Amino acid sequence: MNLDHSKIPQATAKRLPLYYRFLKNLHASGKQRVSSAELSDAVKVDSATIRRDFSYFGALGKKGYGYNVNYLLSFFRKTLDQDEMTNVTLIGVGNLGTAFLHYNFIKNNNTKISMAFDINESKIGKEVGGVPVYDLNDLEKHLTNDIPVAILTVPAQAAQPITDRLVALGIKGILNFTPARLNVPEHIRIHHIDLAVELQSLVYFLKHYSMTEEK
Ligand code: ATP
Repeated sequence: MNLDHSKIPQATAKRLPLYYRFLKNLHASGKQRVSSAELSDAVKVDSATIRRDFSYFGALGKKGYGYNVNYLLSFFRKTLDQDEMTNVTLIGVGNLGTAFLHYNFIKNNNTKISMAFDINESKIGKEVGGVPVYDLNDLEKHLTNDIPVAILTVPAQAAQPITDRLVALGIKGILNFTPARLNVPEHIRIHHIDLAVELQSLVYFLKHYSMTEEK
């Protein structure tokens, strides 16, 4: 089936990796089919939403049968480009950056941090988690256009100038772990994860809302 990605709502697209991971586990355990209720229970998305999401993928569940696990899995694999490895670069090999370099992303999807950059002499020229760390001054020398994604784990004040250089080099997406709000041209995708804010907002919700209200 040919899929027009622009027709898939962003909220649906964001749930794709979640579905994909669960279906992979189901497949590995030998299951052939799954109901939307089972899926709902496992991924904590209500079953009406799942049915709507899946209808965008052309996967129509049959009453009393559910969804065909193999069909869904091959669909997700194609849609998420799981057959193709995406290389990622990481800038800033501090505590957080070092943890990412040691984390095995490939376990769950086909992304791989293939090079890292820092300005600290003691880190440059070393390997961390098997990934070479280069001098940020040499970014233009090392960053090739087969690396479309960058993770930023530098101090906030360093984020924008580095972003400008990445954009000039043709980066397509940035996962920004700094608290800085980044300015980029419209065609560049930024996902912002501020761990301190996320934690604070979780604590806030726990204090001020009961679990049922939060849903
Ligand atoms: P983290 O925030 O990851 O826990 P940290 O507290 O260990 O890090 P930070 O001061 O936040 O250290 O710096 C993160 C990393 O970014 C360090 O390795 C530091 O050398 C590097 N760094 C600092 N400034 C720059 C810069 N302008 N360009 C690239 N890397 C930088």
